[in-house]
Amino acid sequence: MFCEICRQKIIVRLHLMNIFRREVHHICEKCFRKYPLHVKESIIPIDGGEILWHSLLNTNDTLSPLAHMSFYQPFYIHFIQALKKTHTMIFIERLTEDWVIRLEQLNWGRIYLVTHYDGIKNKEDVYDFRSIR
Ligand SMILES: [Zn+2]
Repeated sequence: MFCEICRQKIIVRLHLMNIFRREVHHICEKCFRKYPLHVKESIIPIDGGEILWHSLLNTNDTLSPLAHMSFYQPFYIHFIQALKKTHTMIFIERLTEDWVIRLEQLNWGRIYLVTHYDGIKNKEDVYDFRSIR
């Protein structure tokens, strides 16, 4: 397995805790230290509902979406276990102001949104924006 960012071979260290259950990641330790998960939860109110937004990375670099894909699972599980009856889940690379306008026009009500990047600049000035954490 190779890192999706630097293309170096990923070496998995086996020990007693992972000998029977290996986790497969597509990012090496060095790149993960450079681009760690920085999960931000926010709520953007829209007409007829709200967007419950989780952004995963806080960087301006464009990375392969495959690099952090092993970390998406908790969001899918949270959606399926708690929100699938009340929300619509959408996964996009970067939330922009244009996306917010389009999601508002869809009139889907509550939206559970997961994005790779935090793409809206000065969002506190543009939207009635509440940060959960
Ligand atoms: Zn790497």
